[in-house]
Amino acid sequence: MTRILIADDKAVNRRMLKSMVEEMGMESIEAHDGEEACNILKREDAPQIVLLDWIMPKLNGLEVCRRIALERSQSQKYRYIILVTSKDKDDEISEGFLAGADDYITRPFNRNELRMRLSVGVRIVQMQRDLLKLLHWDPLTNALNRRAALERLDEEIKRSTHSHSPLSIAMLDIDHFKQINDTHGHLVGDMVLKEVVTRIFHSVASYDLIGRYGGDEFILLFPNTKLTDATLTCNQIKNSFSHNPITSAELTLFVTVSIGVTSHNNQAALADTLIHHADDALYKAKRQGRNQVYKFPLM
Ligand code: GH3
Ligand code: MG
Repeated sequence: MTRILIADDKAVNRRMLKSMVEEMGMESIEAHDGEEACNILKREDAPQIVLLDWIMPKLNGLEVCRRIALERSQSQKYRYIILVTSKDKDDEISEGFLAGADDYITRPFNRNELRMRLSVGVRIVQMQRDLLKLLHWDPLTNALNRRAALERLDEEIKRSTHSHSPLSIAMLDIDHFKQINDTHGHLVGDMVLKEVVTRIFHSVASYDLIGRYGGDEFILLFPNTKLTDATLTCNQIKNSFSHNPITSAELTLFVTVSIGVTSHNNQAALADTLIHHADDALYKAKRQGRNQVYKFPLM
């Protein structure tokens, strides 16, 4: 459900905006001053639309606007700001927009007009969410796409180096996938790719990440996980295929996967090196007959 942050120091204003937001089928969160608004907006799950009063204690609305605008360049999530204020002079309106507001409405306002402006905000924010999804997700399998997975790998390497915590990664490739396409057609191949990702999701922890590296190859990130534990998980993934064929109404497909797994230790801090090591282990798994998990360093 779309959530709206209402930042206003006057209870009567907050109440009115809250009832309007709820009438529109959305949820509201309230802030009593600018500082509280900024703190709420720092949260991971912060609302993306803000109805912001200008004159407030601690931090005024204009200052909140400037801070949000500054963070826009660093954040993936756009925060859409509607200034709701009695400041109605031309230069004040310009100042509001220059501070980073997306829209501006002066009190006393027409309730219906604010509703319409709010629905524009909802549309813009939804569009931005859809674009982010396109940018980050593989539409077929719902795994991260290659670009997003590599970005996350860089972040996880930084995090693990900084906190001296382990990080393991794996490269997984479907065995003889081309044969599945050649024998049953691309639609069945697509179904197998989707099912592969679903099964991997079932075997890994909620904080592990799966990215489609390309074609039938996937990269798995195991934050905070030692090589031995990541290897155990990879074996579970491999067994989830070799022990259970993929079935549809007409077909039973015996699909297996090969996996190479490695860990970040501070000598191998580059993403490229880690991927290269996991790939070496993957190719060993393929050479050794497929349906295997190998770890790097190779024994
Ligand atoms: P190996 O066991 O050595 O990995 O052999 P393989 O047949 O799995 O590997 P190969 O690289 O020869 O073939 C991968 C195939 O994946 C070739 C390509 O047409 C197919 N492929 C890539 N992307 C897609 C896709 O999105 N959908 C389908 N159906 N097939 C795809
Ligand atoms: Mg393959």
